[in-house]
Amino acid sequence: MNDEQIENLLHKAPALKAPAGLEEKLKADIRLPQANTNARADQTAWRRPPSWTRRWLPALSFAAILLTCLVAIGVQSNLLTELKQQNADLRAKAQKLESLRLTNADVQRLRNENQELDRLRKDNAELQRLRGEVAQLGAQLQGIQNLRAENQQLKARNLSARAASADTSSDAANAEAESIRCINNMKQVGLAFRMWANDNNDLYPKDFISMTNELGNWRILQCPSDKSHNVSSWADVAAGNISYRRVSSGPGADEQHPNVVLFECPIHGHVALCDGSVQAGSAWLKAHLKVSNGVTTLLSGTNPDPGDATNPASGSAVDDKAAQTAQCLNNLRQIDGAKQTWALEMKKSPNDVPTWQDVLRYLGPPNSSAPRCPSGGTYQLNDLNHPPTCSIPGHQSN
Ligand SMILES: [Zn+2]
Ligand SMILES: [Zn+2]
Repeated sequence: MNDEQIENLLHKAPALKAPAGLEEKLKADIRLPQANTNARADQTAWRRPPSWTRRWLPALSFAAILLTCLVAIGVQSNLLTELKQQNADLRAKAQKLESLRLTNADVQRLRNENQELDRLRKDNAELQRLRGEVAQLGAQLQGIQNLRAENQQLKARNLSARAASADTSSDAANAEAESIRCINNMKQVGLAFRMWANDNNDLYPKDFISMTNELGNWRILQCPSDKSHNVSSWADVAAGNISYRRVSSGPGADEQHPNVVLFECPIHGHVALCDGSVQAGSAWLKAHLKVSNGVTTLLSGTNPDPGDATNPASGSAVDDKAAQTAQCLNNLRQIDGAKQTWALEMKKSPNDVPTWQDVLRYLGPPNSSAPRCPSGGTYQLNDLNHPPTCSIPGHQSN
């Protein structure tokens, strides 16, 4: 059975009728409230003036709400202000921090600069110190240069002194050699005199020309130091160009009088005696010659420097002796020069005595040995007031 069948079925059911009077009975049973009393009561209540509170309650509520709102707004705005303030503070602090940071950076920079400055100051002080040292060194260098220059000067002076002394000594040696050759000449001439006398009753000729046949060589009539006569032949000799001068041609000038002077060298002062010997010229000799009646005689005495010669063959020995003396004097002069240089360089006082080591430094090349006297004498250096001396007599520089 479906819904439609059910509905049709229901439509076919018979209609029912309500009992009479039910409706009225039901209506009578309904009890309605007395509307009149209630309305009166309502009217009285409405007519009574409402209480103050009730009247103003909405306004008060609104005011309260408004106030609350205002308070809330005030509080909030206050909070906002406070926050703003805090924010501003914080911002200010942040700014301050930034500026502090900057200041700090500045301080750091300044500190660094200060350190740099300190370093520079130290560097500067160091520089000043170095400059001072350099100046000092420069002064020392100047001193050294001065000393070097002084040394050079001294060396030059020493050299020139040495050269001068060498010159002097070579001059002296030359003069000595000429003097010796002169003595040798005179010895040969003296021999010629004696040979001539042998043939002529032991008498000596009154001049040199008379015995030319005995002389052999015209050169021996020439003193080697004689520059005033220009002789190159017998003819010149015959013309009177003879260095030697005939002395004591009068009586008594013969071989019996060995102390009588036969002839002399006016240049050297040497004299040849009648015995054929030759005495070297000297102050002693000059003081011991005596002229009487045209005869010159050598007074008795010992000539400290006889020059010759009783033995004509001793010529070379004399030569050696003179050369040795000259050599020795030369040594002494060099030693003296070295002594003076030493004194100057070492700033010595006159009483100081150098050692050989001191002197050798200024004497010739390095490591050279001390000069020796060729005659075997010993040198003594002496103090600066006295020249060095040789132990051989006659080896004394004047
Ligand atoms: Zn002479
Ligand atoms: Zn000597």
